Amino acid sequence: MDFSLPEELVMLKKMVRKFTENEIMPLENTVIEREAARGMGDMRSIPPEEEERILAKAKELGLWGIDVPEEYGGSDLGMLAKNIVEEEMNRSIVWIMLPPDSPNLNLLLTCCKKEQYDDYLLPYARGEKISALALTEANAGSDAAGIQLRAERRGDKWVLNGTKTWISFGPKADFFIVIAVTDKEKRQRGGFTSFLVDRDTPGFKIMRNIPVIGDMLVYELVLEDVILDDNKVLGEVGQAFVPLQNRLGVRRVELAAKCCGLADRLIELMITQANVRNTFGQPLAERQFVQGWIADSTAELHATRLMVYHASWKFDNGERDLRVEGAMTKVFGTEMLTRVADRAIQAHGALGLSKEMIIEYVARMVRIWRILEGPSEIHRWLTARQILRSGKPYQTIIM
Ligand SMILES: Cc1cc2nc3c(=O)[nH]c(=O)nc-3n(C[C@H](O)[C@H](O)[C@H](O)COP(=O)(O)OP(=O)(O)OC[C@H]3O[C@@H](n4cnc5c(N)ncnc54)[C@H](O)[C@@H]3O)c2cc1C
Repeated sequence: MDFSLPEELVMLKKMVRKFTENEIMPLENTVIEREAARGMGDMRSIPPEEEERILAKAKELGLWGIDVPEEYGGSDLGMLAKNIVEEEMNRSIVWIMLPPDSPNLNLLLTCCKKEQYDDYLLPYARGEKISALALTEANAGSDAAGIQLRAERRGDKWVLNGTKTWISFGPKADFFIVIAVTDKEKRQRGGFTSFLVDRDTPGFKIMRNIPVIGDMLVYELVLEDVILDDNKVLGEVGQAFVPLQNRLGVRRVELAAKCCGLADRLIELMITQANVRNTFGQPLAERQFVQGWIADSTAELHATRLMVYHASWKFDNGERDLRVEGAMTKVFGTEMLTRVADRAIQAHGALGLSKEMIIEYVARMVRIWRILEGPSEIHRWLTARQILRSGKPYQTIIM
């Protein structure tokens, strides 16, 4: 068994580390200040001109379209490469989304029909358009089968009515992938359909932002008699769920990769603090409590990273159903970072709580990640259900 990375991925990892340290980390104080100044509003924490500058530089370095197939203009390096880049860039708290966002890319690659390529798949793959997924509703979160937003057939058109909530990207998105009920009887078993809704479609409104803990912006959407042609149906009518599950699997593994980057950074901070801070005549590094925090954090980060690499390897070898890997990896990664951030705060004392360091920012951000993309309880349930059904423990190596 070979755990070394191919040469091209080693070079990519090193290059992204340098890029993150030189171009992204210097913005951290700005992000912390802007987030604190935001109050109940929705000012983005990265100044738009800085984001543009970083994205332009990333493009120059070939970091756009890492997992986009070559035929659509990407470098086709796959999911492992993308997650290695995610991990490295997320050693910084400054959140930069490299175009295109992988989960919706995979959904579009699976579901787009040829006539939708020019308006959606191709500009999305080139990073010219941003998309958002609008699934959640006030009465349908973990249990997405409870969605109510209706798409009715009137003549040869679809008419959409309803509300979506907690939707990321909001005004930043050029188009939304909206999941609607097309058959009330069948519901999730053939009655849910995905639609492509452009931001400027008549009847589509971004109503308000909903301020939340941490640095994420989420919005409520209203669709009032939104009229769409058949060419706005993404995939097959009634078949939204399976491709959606696969899309969610991609995001969950990616989220764990982000957790690895941040945990790595926090462990680095703990090491420095443990070596330089003296109490009662000894450095913290000599205290068994502090050693325990560093040892446990190291082991848990290592385990998460292996899970991310393993899931990515499966995907790159053709497996599209990452439901179990996505569930296990997301729970493990987000809960790992929660513990690491808490230990890092404790090791830094008052300094760990201050907005002069990044630790408290991470501790608040990761609290969102334990709910976003499905809460931990749902992922544990999903994992147990699959394993109980199969009647055997999870097989890391398929024989
Ligand atoms: C910052 C942010 C961004 C988001 N972005 C998007 C987005 O872009 N698009 C989108 O569609 N959605 C988005 N969401 C919504 C997110 O996916 C949902 O919040 C999530 O799926 C949980 O649903 P809920 O909040 O309705 O919680 P509920 O479903 O009401 O669950 C509440 C709690 O009950 C427990 N629970 C629920 N069911 C079970 C069970 N079966 N067994 C045990 N415990 C259970 C869990 O602990 C859960 O946390 C976002 C949410 C946030 C906070």
